Amino acid sequence: MRKTIVAGNWKMNGTTESNKALLENLTAGLNAVDGLVTLVCPPAVYLAQVKQQLGNAPVAVGAQNVSAQPKGAFTGEWSLAMLQDLGCEYVIIGHSERRSIFGETDNQVAEKVAATLDAKLIPVLCVGETLEEREAGETINVVSNQVEAVLARVGIAALANAVIAYEPVWAIGTGLTATPQQAQDVHKAIRAQLAASDDSVAENMSILYGGSMNAVNAAELLAQQDIDGGLIGGASLKADEFLTICAAA
Ligand code: PGA
Repeated sequence: MRKTIVAGNWKMNGTTESNKALLENLTAGLNAVDGLVTLVCPPAVYLAQVKQQLGNAPVAVGAQNVSAQPKGAFTGEWSLAMLQDLGCEYVIIGHSERRSIFGETDNQVAEKVAATLDAKLIPVLCVGETLEEREAGETINVVSNQVEAVLARVGIAALANAVIAYEPVWAIGTGLTATPQQAQDVHKAIRAQLAASDDSVAENMSILYGGSMNAVNAAELLAQQDIDGGLIGGASLKADEFLTICAAA
């Protein structure tokens, strides 16, 4: 069965104090719903704090990135074993900010997804086109190449344990949201691409939308047939707004 996932990507925001308050408000207002996963992805330095404060609350914890290397001389990095040690279940991989600001390539993204699957954590593979690519009519091409790079590395069977997030780069943090139809079209194309290798993996894949999703536009986006949740940046930093999105899902 396809899971609905509402994930908060806190990016590089928060303090010990503000995280505590955000989680208190979040857990106070959250109703556990069957088939709905609520996920928060704080900065790595706060993963232990967040995990500890959440205790048994029905909120999963994910990292925003990870190294594909097991251990050793990689200053500034952290490993999948460390995320396992902290009780993390998910890892966002290939976010457009990682790709564009930190130069992550399709190959590196594929290696990270492969390592994450090997470690039995769930990768949230991010894909999406720039405004320039959309205007050139290249959206489906770009997204399908990003998916293909990972598919070629890990294979369709392993991908059954992953989640995909479609995040048009032009919609991230800009207040510009893809229309429900624009998003649905790309989600449908991703599912069709997976179905070409395996129908059941395609059918069960949770494909999240990300890019200025908020309390106002979430319901309409989430009502689309192939949109199975959201990856939420800015709006995940306000408990009431994030809860409204969870309720819409
Ligand atoms: P946004 O970010 O909701 O602030 O647009 C989404 C994301 O980058 O994951």
